[in-house]
Amino acid sequence: MLFSNATEELKSRFFNKVGATDFSNDKCHIWPAAKSGMGYGYMQWQGKVEKASRIMWSLYNECDIPDGMEIMHLCDSPSCVNPAHLSVGSHKSNMRDMIRKGRHRNGSKVKTLGYVNDLKMAAI
Ligand SMILES: [Zn+2]
Repeated sequence: MLFSNATEELKSRFFNKVGATDFSNDKCHIWPAAKSGMGYGYMQWQGKVEKASRIMWSLYNECDIPDGMEIMHLCDSPSCVNPAHLSVGSHKSNMRDMIRKGRHRNGSKVKTLGYVNDLKMAAI
């Protein structure tokens, strides 16, 4: 319920951090504030830590992320918050997308077919 609960304070704090409001160009906008070890941007708001990409998607599209859905990075850059590079997908399709691109945790390449199968099982 990110968007429904969003306040003007959140919007101004968020876009101040992003440092841009024009995303018409195609380049990645890298989140400049807190990042996880995996490179995802995070922002604390109302005592909760939320992914920057989720905040961006909600605010930009003016709608809540459907329950159980995740924000996928079409550009494969976890720190990117360019709304044109974000799309909504299920956890399963997110995992499938990562496998298809040969990417998983830490950004290293998937090495063995067995490992790919393990990931597929984990995603089901
Ligand atoms: Zn990007």
